Amino acid sequence: MTDLTTMTPPAIDAILNDLGHQRAKLVNRVEGLRRAARQARTGRYPDPAHATKLETQATQYEPQITAITDQMQPYNNEFDRRGGWTRAFLVQSNSGHVHKSMSCSTCYPSTRYAWLTDYSGKDEEQIVYAAGELGCTVCYPSAPVNVLTRVGEIRRPTDLEREQRAAEKATAAAERAAAAIIDPNTGATLYKTGRAAMNAIAIALDNLRWYGDDHPSADEWHRTVDTAVTALAAKQGIDKDAAMTEFQQRADKKFATTARKRLREHHQREGSIVVEDLVPGLQAWVREHGIPA
Ligand SMILES: [Zn+2]
Repeated sequence: MTDLTTMTPPAIDAILNDLGHQRAKLVNRVEGLRRAARQARTGRYPDPAHATKLETQATQYEPQITAITDQMQPYNNEFDRRGGWTRAFLVQSNSGHVHKSMSCSTCYPSTRYAWLTDYSGKDEEQIVYAAGELGCTVCYPSAPVNVLTRVGEIRRPTDLEREQRAAEKATAAAERAAAAIIDPNTGATLYKTGRAAMNAIAIALDNLRWYGDDHPSADEWHRTVDTAVTALAAKQGIDKDAAMTEFQQRADKKFATTARKRLREHHQREGSIVVEDLVPGLQAWVREHGIPA
């Protein structure tokens, strides 16, 4: 048997809290069964047999409840033997406060509490300081205003969750902002990521190679390439012209590979190639390189 006289108030209250929860769960179940039994006995469609069955079920929980009460007794006795100690309870709601007992006049019989057993046995000033803005002014009437207006270390789970969500949102927004490609002149977001900017550049350069500068969209493709490369180079701190050259070379290589393949397929299919019928980009390529074998 543990020596209760050497146990700390937090250790004793943690056990009482745990046993109390187990007992409350059983008491709830019994109350539910008794309510249902009453309903079955006196309701609109009485069913005495069912009522008896429910009452029997309720009675079967009683030994368990008594056993837990007995288990709690020595801990309660130790509390009494020491003349009691301070305790703190946090009301479980969005606006819950810290109280020194579960019978505070500002609360209701239905109020649900979390027992802050870590604070059991602490000086009242320490508890009030830890509770900060959550301290109940009825329970702690002498608490200084400057203590009751600051955020203490005791926090409501609902507040912590809200702060957690806000922090996650801020992190996500910061990550999005860090990834975004911004027009250095206007500050406008051009692309959500560097990858998206690179794709846009590659597509516009490819279009220019296939359809040439006479295409109605050619100006737009040139603008896209220019603004995207400028923004990307600014973001990465690299030289714009060097970046542009690299993109152009990459686009040339891709176009040459595809052009060669297309022309070969075309030749195999048709037996000959009429250069004037080709898209402008292929015409230009043939003029420069001839028809591939
Ligand atoms: Zn109170």
